[in-house]
Amino acid sequence: GRRSSAELIHAEESRLAHNYHPLPVVVAKAEGAWVEDVEGRRYLDMLAGYSALNFGHRHPALIEAAHRQLDQLTLTSRAFHNDRLAGFAEQLADLTGLDMTLPMNTGAEAVESGIKLARKWAYEVKGVAPDQANIVVAAGNFHGRTTTIVSFSDDPVARDGFGPFTPGFRTVPYDDLAALEAAVDENTAAVLIEPIQGEAGVLIPTDGYLAGIRELTRRANVLFIADEIQSGLGRTGTTLAVAHEAVLPDLLLLGKALGGGIVPVSAVVGRREVMSVLGPGQHGSTFGGNPLAAAVGSAVVGLLETGEFQQRAKDLGVVLADRLSALVGHGVVGYRARGLWAGVDIDPAFGTGREISERLMAEGVLVKDTHGSTIRFAPPLSISEEDLVSGLGALETVLAG
Ligand code: PLP
Repeated sequence: GRRSSAELIHAEESRLAHNYHPLPVVVAKAEGAWVEDVEGRRYLDMLAGYSALNFGHRHPALIEAAHRQLDQLTLTSRAFHNDRLAGFAEQLADLTGLDMTLPMNTGAEAVESGIKLARKWAYEVKGVAPDQANIVVAAGNFHGRTTTIVSFSDDPVARDGFGPFTPGFRTVPYDDLAALEAAVDENTAAVLIEPIQGEAGVLIPTDGYLAGIRELTRRANVLFIADEIQSGLGRTGTTLAVAHEAVLPDLLLLGKALGGGIVPVSAVVGRREVMSVLGPGQHGSTFGGNPLAAAVGSAVVGLLETGEFQQRAKDLGVVLADRLSALVGHGVVGYRARGLWAGVDIDPAFGTGREISERLMAEGVLVKDTHGSTIRFAPPLSISEEDLVSGLGALETVLAG
C-alpha cells in the first residue's frame, strides 16, 4: 500500500543527505497555488519553490508545452543543434533588451557561468593581467552552493568545512554605494549583486543603489552582473527587479521560474561584447539548452510577454503590503515587500521563524523561514486575491493564538 507521510519522512531521514530541514509535509500533487499531501490535506503554497513556481503549479500553458515537446524531442546535447533553442534565445533577448544567451540548468550554474564570462572579458577585452581579476560582491549575498560561490558567501553555515576557497572576490556591505566604489579598482571585472537580496530576508536597497551601480560600473569599465534568479521574471511587479530603477545590467542571471517549475532552466543573458569571449569548448553543459528546457522556457517567456503576471504581482503586492502593515506591532516587528514578495520579521517573543512556519502549516499555509525570525512570502503570481487574503489571515491567526 501507499506509505503515510510519517513513514515517508522517516524513510527520507535514513536515505537522504540531511542538507535540508523540510517542514513535515509530504506533497503528492498540486495545482495553481494549492498542494495536497499524501493524506489528502490541502495547503496554500506561499513559498512557490523559492519563486521557481511564479506561474503556479502545473500552469496549463507550461504543461502543454512540456507535453508537446516530450512527444517530439527531449535531448540532443549541444553536439548538434535543436529546433527550439534559437527561438528561446530570441525571446529572451526581446524580453530583457540584452543580446545573447548562454543556457544552463540551475541557478548556481548561471552564477558560475557569469563569473567565468566576467573574468574572461576582463583578461581579453579590458586587459587585466593574468589571474589578477577581482569581482566585487555584497555582504549577505546568496548566489548558490558551488565551491566558488560559497567562497564569497559570508554565511558560516554555507562555508564552514568546504575550504579551500576560490580567491578573487571582495565583499562590501549591501546597499552602500560608497563602499562599492572604494572596492572597485583597475583589476575589477564585475560587480555581482542581487537587486533584492532574497535569502537574506527580501532586503530591498535604497532607491538609487542599482542606478548608482550602473553608473559607476560604466564609468570604471566594470561589468554589472545582476543575479535575478529569485527576483526576476515577474516577482516584483516588473519582468526584472532592475527595472524599478530603469537600469540594464551587462549580464543578467536567470533561473528558477525560467523552468516553469517543470524542468531546471537557467541562463546568462548578456551584451554581445561580453558573451562573445566564449569560444567552442571553453564552457558548456550536457543538458544546458536542451529542447525540453527550451520549449518550457519559451512558454514561460510567452506568459511574461502578456504582462499579466507582472500586473498581478503589482496589484496583489498592494494587498500583501496592506495586510502586513496591519500586523506590525501584533507579532510582526517589520516587513519589506515589493510586488508579491515579502520578508516578514516576527517578534521573537511570538516564536522563531521555524515555529511560526510550523504553526502556519497547521493552519494550511506553507511558507519558509530564513535567518532566525524572518518569514518569506512568495506565493505564485497566479494566486487569487481571496487565497492571498486567507493565507495572510492565517498568519494573523497564528500570531493572535
Ligand atoms: N541566486 C539567487 C539569487 C538565488 O536565490 C538562488 C537560489 O535560491 C541561486 C542563485 C541558486 O540557484 P539554484 O538553487 O538553482 O542553484
